[in-house]
Amino acid sequence: MGYIIACDFDGTVTASDTIIAIMQRFAPTDSQATLSRILDRTLSIQEGVTTLFNLLDTSKRQAIVEFVRQEVSIRPGFQTLLDKAQELDIPFYIISGGMHFFIDPILSDFTGIEAVYANNVDFSGEKMLVEWRYPCDDVCASGECGTCKPSIVRTLGSHQVIAIGDSVTDIRLAEVADILFTTDKLTTYAEAEAIPHIPFQTFYDIVEQLEEVVR
Ligand SMILES: [Zn+2]
Repeated sequence: MGYIIACDFDGTVTASDTIIAIMQRFAPTDSQATLSRILDRTLSIQEGVTTLFNLLDTSKRQAIVEFVRQEVSIRPGFQTLLDKAQELDIPFYIISGGMHFFIDPILSDFTGIEAVYANNVDFSGEKMLVEWRYPCDDVCASGECGTCKPSIVRTLGSHQVIAIGDSVTDIRLAEVADILFTTDKLTTYAEAEAIPHIPFQTFYDIVEQLEEVVR
């Protein structure tokens, strides 16, 4: 049974959270309360992110894409990791709770990504409306993931899963991982819960260890 890589986008491929950066730039005052409620978990991610994007005028689409391309930095070593995965014949998937309209332009600078799973935005109205494309399947114990990363992984067939993530939104993904690379808040969580994991700072750290862990 071969391996696949399931890699988060926000705060993992990017060095900081893209959605938070977008809100701080385009809806700094109005987004504050909703961001706080997502972080203290009194609002689900799905409800919270829907509310946040609904603050944004659809006419701002291009400005947001340009802002993200200019302001958001990529964690070092990303293309090197993609190359390494190709060399080892491991398909590399991006699985994100974010939106295609700002993720795809960033990822178009890179080669070797098998597919990008993310959400759509309806731009037909005055405000942006998030279309959640990947609800939880029957197996997911959460039932309220927003974007259900383990459900997406299950649609990819039976493989051993190498998961890469940074945050609480990757906890359910971490649970279906055979090998788990963590950074930031996901490292803290894995330590607290005694979940086997390999911490990383840059993608070069993963490049160095990938061949060893899949052997
Ligand atoms: Zn789920």
